[in-house]
Amino acid sequence: MRPERRSRYEELERLLGRVERPSRYVDHEWGAAHDEASDFRVCLMYPDTYEVGQSNLGLAILYSVLNEQDGMACERSYLPWVDLADLMREKGLPLLSLESSFPVASFDVLGFSIAHELVGTNILEALDLAGIALRGDERDEDDPIVIGGGPSVYNPEPLAPVFDAILLGDGEEAIVEMARAVRDGRRAGLPRREIVSGLASVDGVYVPSSYRIAVDAGTTRWGRAVPVEGAGAPAVVRKRVLAALSATPAVPRQVVPYSEVVFDRLAIEVLRGCARGCRFCQAGMTYRPVRERPEGQVVSAALEALGQTGYDEVSLTSLSTTDHSACAHMLTSLNRSLEGTGTSVSIPSQRLDSFGVEMAAACHSGGKRSGLTFAPEAGTQRLRDVINKNVTEDDLMGAAARAFGNGWRRMKLYFMIGLPTETDEDVLAIPQLAERVVGLGRELVPKPQRSAVSVSVSVAVFVPKSWTPFQWEGQLPLGEVRRRQGLLLRACRDRSIRVSYHDPEASQVEAVLSRIGREGFGLVEAAWRGGCRFDAWTERFSYPAWRDAARSVGIDLDEVASAPYDRASDLPWDHVSPGISKGFLEREAIRAQRGATTPDCTRTSCTGCGVCQELDVANDLAGERR
Ligand code: SF4
Repeated sequence: MRPERRSRYEELERLLGRVERPSRYVDHEWGAAHDEASDFRVCLMYPDTYEVGQSNLGLAILYSVLNEQDGMACERSYLPWVDLADLMREKGLPLLSLESSFPVASFDVLGFSIAHELVGTNILEALDLAGIALRGDERDEDDPIVIGGGPSVYNPEPLAPVFDAILLGDGEEAIVEMARAVRDGRRAGLPRREIVSGLASVDGVYVPSSYRIAVDAGTTRWGRAVPVEGAGAPAVVRKRVLAALSATPAVPRQVVPYSEVVFDRLAIEVLRGCARGCRFCQAGMTYRPVRERPEGQVVSAALEALGQTGYDEVSLTSLSTTDHSACAHMLTSLNRSLEGTGTSVSIPSQRLDSFGVEMAAACHSGGKRSGLTFAPEAGTQRLRDVINKNVTEDDLMGAAARAFGNGWRRMKLYFMIGLPTETDEDVLAIPQLAERVVGLGRELVPKPQRSAVSVSVSVAVFVPKSWTPFQWEGQLPLGEVRRRQGLLLRACRDRSIRVSYHDPEASQVEAVLSRIGREGFGLVEAAWRGGCRFDAWTERFSYPAWRDAARSVGIDLDEVASAPYDRASDLPWDHVSPGISKGFLEREAIRAQRGATTPDCTRTSCTGCGVCQELDVANDLAGERR
């Protein structure tokens, strides 16, 4: 039975004195939407703590869009940290929404953001705390329709049994259509089963219960998802895509937190999509085509929202902000308008070959000197060509020189180990490159400040992701990852270089969940039942618990992460398409083996990824890219 829609805040408040960071759970931030009258209610859940999820731009956009609909109210919920979750279970208090403190299970729709592969146990924890069955096929008529969406949906199978429906691609229009379909279905008294299967008629929506898994000689061991006879579901669900970003507001409704959050600043999405074509990058493949927001829209929205919110920093976000055709000009005009206000402008990471002098000066002029971040990804040119990074050491040195020359002293460099074809020589080239950057800094920075020159080297482990040219590759075995990490660490002798690693064991679990089929749900459920949650938090991740879970369901983590897939086989995710053609990915995989690069189609001409033809869209640039 659906729980009553009434505030349970008083019961929650009694527990807050006993938990860490109680401000995570307190409502009434500036700008939050309060509408307790609407009878159709959606709860958007970011399955991590408040401070991680509050600044998520995707969720903020959907929150904004849904609250603009007549007769619909949208609220947020975040996952309580383990201390509060334990207390809530002890007291019989279910998971609540933030704004009204209504039980999450009393909403009509519960939407989860699926930000990455390790979030699965948190989603199960949220459902269990809410008192909602973990599997879609076990839910009651009155339970919310549970939907998912976000960046990590292009192998939906390990979480497919959880979701009634999964949205692929841009959500601004589709979320409204989905909510209306549920509302109309409820009003018409349709059974839950029919409402769920009806969601498949919304473009971009995958309804897992309308597909069964078929395993045969043409598939991997995890099989392929095929429509259940009579379900009326398409063989392949294509993602939803917005033709132009300029048609959407540059800044969604702002909710200003009163406690510290991970990204405590105004964020403006200046472009969506990336056509650089890095062969390991899932977002680069799945967010195409490129759509730029016009400069004027960004600048006026930024000034207006800064005035309203009081933030002292604006971040121009996207997959590759410095690629925006008007990036340098946009930074300069924002800085000019903000002069004397103490407000700074930042960009999350800087593309090496498009980080120009103007950008170096403009990013700095706001006064904050946190580090600059560049991502060469690999230490040698050979390997950068294999991954199609299309940047050279000269690009790195040029960008570093501009940064040092404009007052920056600290730099962060991102690399990956375990990339296809990597050798020890490639690994050893990483610290050598970092040493040359530090050396350059010492040459360019005035003597009294030289000791401040430092480089942080962050080394992730390559995880093969669906819908990339490397989707057929296996991950490097754990022992070999550790050997290469040791090699790199021992080769790094300069004290101005700090090396940090991603946990190879968490990366292995990420690889398993990126590659496995629907059977992966058993693994996620066993891990959650074994106590796993907040797996993306280093201090919470327990490899022994994941190993035990894998053993209990007959899955070998080493084998699933490392075994390559046959290019001729149907893959577990072939039924959910971001629009890229599999033929393009295969050609790119072959070019990678030869070290042949492929140019960026926004600077040359179409390179045949297929998105524009498949989805009837085109790159939408605000100006010419150079
Ligand atoms: S179809 Fe061509 S122009 Fe469109 S994103 Fe792909 S490569 Fe670029």
